[in-house]
Amino acid sequence: MDKSTCKFKISPKELLEFFIERGELTIPLISKELDLSMPTTNKLISYLYDNNYIINVGKGETGEGRPPSLYKVNNNIGFFMGVDIKKDFIYINLMDFGGNILRNKNCKYNLENSYKGIKDLCNLINETLKEWSVNKTLLKYIGINIPGRIHTEEGMSHTYFSFLEDPITEVLEYELNHKIVIENDTRAMFLGELFLEKYREKNIVFINVGWGLGSAFLVNGEIVRGKDGYAGELGHFYAYDNEVLCHCGKKGCLETEVSGSAFYRKLMDSLKNGKSSILSKKFNNNDRITLFDIIEATNSEDLLCIDIVEHIGSELGKHVANLINLLNPELIIIGGSMAATGDYFFLPLKSSVKKYTLKIVNKNTNIVLSKLNDNTGSIGACFIAREKYLKKMTV
Ligand SMILES: [Zn+2]
Repeated sequence: MDKSTCKFKISPKELLEFFIERGELTIPLISKELDLSMPTTNKLISYLYDNNYIINVGKGETGEGRPPSLYKVNNNIGFFMGVDIKKDFIYINLMDFGGNILRNKNCKYNLENSYKGIKDLCNLINETLKEWSVNKTLLKYIGINIPGRIHTEEGMSHTYFSFLEDPITEVLEYELNHKIVIENDTRAMFLGELFLEKYREKNIVFINVGWGLGSAFLVNGEIVRGKDGYAGELGHFYAYDNEVLCHCGKKGCLETEVSGSAFYRKLMDSLKNGKSSILSKKFNNNDRITLFDIIEATNSEDLLCIDIVEHIGSELGKHVANLINLLNPELIIIGGSMAATGDYFFLPLKSSVKKYTLKIVNKNTNIVLSKLNDNTGSIGACFIAREKYLKKMTV
C-alpha cells in the first residue's frame, strides 16, 4: 500500500502496533479509541486481515445489537530470536509476533574479542535454530545484545569484535543468513525488565552488575540513548586512584572495583595470598572458576566471598547515591548476575545510598533488586528485534 496515497489518519502498521499493545479489539472499539470513522477502520482491518497480520477470534461483547467481530495479532505471522551475550554464557529466546516467549535456553560460551568468538556465536545460534526447528522464512529478525559500546543504527560494536572493519551486523547477517539488530546488553536487559515487570514509573535508573558494570535510564518515560547510543557507561566513571587497568584501556574506572570481574579478581588475589574459601580446591587444582561459581559460593555462605561482595555493594551504593542526586529518579533497579547474591550485596548498597544521598532528593526514590533472572536480556533482545521489524515495515 502506497502511504502517500493513503487517506487513513494512521497507517496499517500503526494499527498493528496498537493491537500488539492492547490485545483483542473490535472495529467499534478501535474506531472510538483512535477517533477513526467506521469505514476507515474497516479498510485498515481488511488490510491487516487479508495480509494475515491479524486473525478473527470470535465475537466481542456488546450491550445491544449484533456483536462485533473480535480481532487479535496473528502470533504465527513471524518469530523473533533474542540472544544475550555474557562472559561465560549466552542466553537465547524465541518469541512469537504477539510477544509470547516460546523457547529459551542457555549455553556455555566464552566471550572473546576474536574471530573465534564470532564463529562460536554463529555456531550456537545455528544449532539452536535447528534444534527448535525454526521456520527460516518466518524468523523476521535476530536481536543480539553485546556488552560495551554499541552503535545500533550503524551496527557497530566498539568494545567486543571491534577488530572488524565492517559492521558486526553485516558479518553476522552473512554468516547466519538472517536479519540482525544489535543493542547494548544493559539497555536490552532494561527493556526486558520494563516489559516483564510493567513498571509504571517514568523516571527509572537500571544498574546492570554483571561481569562489567552498565546502566540504562528512563527519563520522563523515554529511554536515554545519547547522540550515538553510548549513554549509560557507568562502569567507566573515573572513581579510583588505583593501578588496575580497565578493559577500556584507562585506569581508575568504577568497573575495576565494582563489577563481577572485580569480584573475580579480588577473590583470586585473596586465594593467592592464602585465604581460604570453598573455591580453594578448584583454585588449587587450576580448574576454571566462573562468576557463576563465585555467586554460588557466596550464596552457600562462603565468608571470603561475602566479605568481598559486601564491599562491592557498599562502593556501588556511593555511586547510586550520586545518580539519585543527579537524576532524582522514582525507582532504581539493581539487576545483572550479581543481583543473585541478594542481601549480601543489597543491604550494604542500600546503607551506602542512605549515607551519601541528599535526603530531600532520595525521599521518593525506591530501590529494588531485580527479581528476574539472567534471561531478561534475551527477552529484551526479542522485543528489540520485533521493534526493528516493525520500524522497517513500509505499510
Ligand atoms: Zn574503563
